[in-house]
Amino acid sequence: MERRKFLSNTLLTSLGLSLLPSINNSDSFASTSRKPIVMSTWNHGLAANDAAWVVLSAGGRALDAVEQGVRVSEADPKVSSVGYGGAPDRDGNVTLDACIMDEEGNCGSVAFLEKIMHPISVARKVMEKTPYVMLTGDGALQFALANGFKEENLLTEEAKKAWLDWKKKQTELKIDKDHHDTIGMLAIDIKGNISGACTTSGLAYKMRGRVGDSPIIGAGLFLDNEVGGACATGKGEAVIKIAGSAMIVELMRNGKTPKEACKIAIERIAKKQKDCKDFQVGFLALNKSGEYGSYSLQKGFDYAVCFDKINKIYKSESFA
Ligand code: ASP
Repeated sequence: MERRKFLSNTLLTSLGLSLLPSINNSDSFASTSRKPIVMSTWNHGLAANDAAWVVLSAGGRALDAVEQGVRVSEADPKVSSVGYGGAPDRDGNVTLDACIMDEEGNCGSVAFLEKIMHPISVARKVMEKTPYVMLTGDGALQFALANGFKEENLLTEEAKKAWLDWKKKQTELKIDKDHHDTIGMLAIDIKGNISGACTTSGLAYKMRGRVGDSPIIGAGLFLDNEVGGACATGKGEAVIKIAGSAMIVELMRNGKTPKEACKIAIERIAKKQKDCKDFQVGFLALNKSGEYGSYSLQKGFDYAVCFDKINKIYKSESFA
């Protein structure tokens, strides 16, 4: 019954409706301890949160929840900036970046990985099976194949058609509101432990070999189990330049709310990066009490939060 109620509510919330009482829609509500809880970037975060919630509501570990959650976006051909169906680089190759981090500060990452549907699971294997944090390119692919992952074609017909259309115009694509949707996810499990994941196909039609913030621990994702976590979406270069997610976690350590911390990071980008009107960055943050918040550079950044069986989309406040 509870499950049915949850599923129907999820269906309704994806239509912007809810049968159940709404959780606080404020970016910085006060709370003692909200757990389990999961949040993720963009509208496709709803489906990812559903998968994460299956793990969390069964008492599972946050690390398993974030991996299972973002795998949904990675496998969805309609999500054009993550995994299968992601926009390729300018030469037509889909190249993927992902990272994952657990409550003990362990982390794993892959960058410039091709032909593997679930880079987040390869990143987890890097974390658990090697003494390293990051593998890239062909080395990451060889590692994935040696660990049982299968090579697949990730370029869908739809993504190929869009790339061929772009090639006719050959314009440099900016990460504006239409060309990003990395999934970043943060979760706290019933034990109060936090984990996070971030996975993307990166900037559409990028130069071959370009890697953004999403696989960079401290930029696209960072967490500390004593404090909370943060993740990013948007122009990776802008996020890397301020070590965005690490900065937000340290601001929370020093007493800022999640929203305040995200806002300060965005303001830093706006102050230091002269071309900031031309791109988007969005941050999410979650502290150990289950308080969550967000802030973005431009309007139009949405995120999904699932808590107490309610999975909903929120609109972020923005600088511009
Ligand atoms: N952050 C990603 C990158 O720069 C882009 C995105 O959010 O879609 O690769």
